Amino acid sequence: MSNLSEKVTVIHIVGTGRNGSTLLERILNEVPDFFAVGEVGWTDLEKMEECNCHCGKNFQVCPAWSAIMKEDDFQKIDKKGMAEWRDKYRNSSYIFKSFLDKKQDFSDMFEKYLYNTYLFYHAVQKSSACKYITDSTCSAAYCHNLSLVPEIDLYVIHLVREPKGVAHSRSITKYWPNSKVVWLPRVTPWSAAITWVKRNLFIELAFAKRKDRYLRVHYEDLIENPTQTIKRIGKLLGLELKQLDFIDGKNVVLGDTHLTGGNIYVSAKTGKTVLKLDERWKRDMKWWNVALVSLITWPLMLRYFIVDKIKKHS
Ligand SMILES: [Zn+2]
Repeated sequence: MSNLSEKVTVIHIVGTGRNGSTLLERILNEVPDFFAVGEVGWTDLEKMEECNCHCGKNFQVCPAWSAIMKEDDFQKIDKKGMAEWRDKYRNSSYIFKSFLDKKQDFSDMFEKYLYNTYLFYHAVQKSSACKYITDSTCSAAYCHNLSLVPEIDLYVIHLVREPKGVAHSRSITKYWPNSKVVWLPRVTPWSAAITWVKRNLFIELAFAKRKDRYLRVHYEDLIENPTQTIKRIGKLLGLELKQLDFIDGKNVVLGDTHLTGGNIYVSAKTGKTVLKLDERWKRDMKWWNVALVSLITWPLMLRYFIVDKIKKHS
């Protein structure tokens, strides 16, 4: 990829899914110079013309994406190849091998995948004239692949949510347009808890050592104090976000959104929105599932919800 030079800044929100990533991305979209693309890692670029943007319009007539899709870089993307490669290179065994391969001896096909990924974000940056692109694919593997593109200036926002809330949310099916599955399958609490531990551990192992590129934030803090969370993200990027006019306490004014994918129910919210913690698990989860999830996740829970809090207040 030595023929490329222009860098693209991508802020990737990574975590377990059902962790408030769409909400965080929508709030970031309101910050000047930010443009939110949603869950690009799950989007089938080949079928975009048949799908709708989260603004409700078909991608071909959406004002944001119709312009992006006309960009030279977007036209150059091998969309058929991307559909095949994204599944191949999100495979966990491949990622683990790639993570351990310090020599970074990539196959030609993998190089093509990375090059086409860059073309996508470059087309977005050129068309929207933004400085920062946010992506809420949430996948640790996709995030790792992004980190391998030298022309992508990557910042990793590790979004952690209380595991019982994640497990409860994942036990409910949800409509998820523009993805392969459309309806997200139900996941058992114990499986959700194991994934929560594995995913968070991998994210820390892969990205936390880069202190200037990695920030861990909590869904619960985002809801409680959105200004503070957004300012912390700004600080990571070297931005001093003094005034966030669209946030007043827990009230956030959400404008237009052009996400490719994500929580469609969150995308439907526009205008003044009051942030509220989703704690339905406290009411609806069986006590034995609460106990099981707590048993599986307690060491990391301690780290994220006790140690992190102490550090923040010290
Ligand atoms: Zn749109």
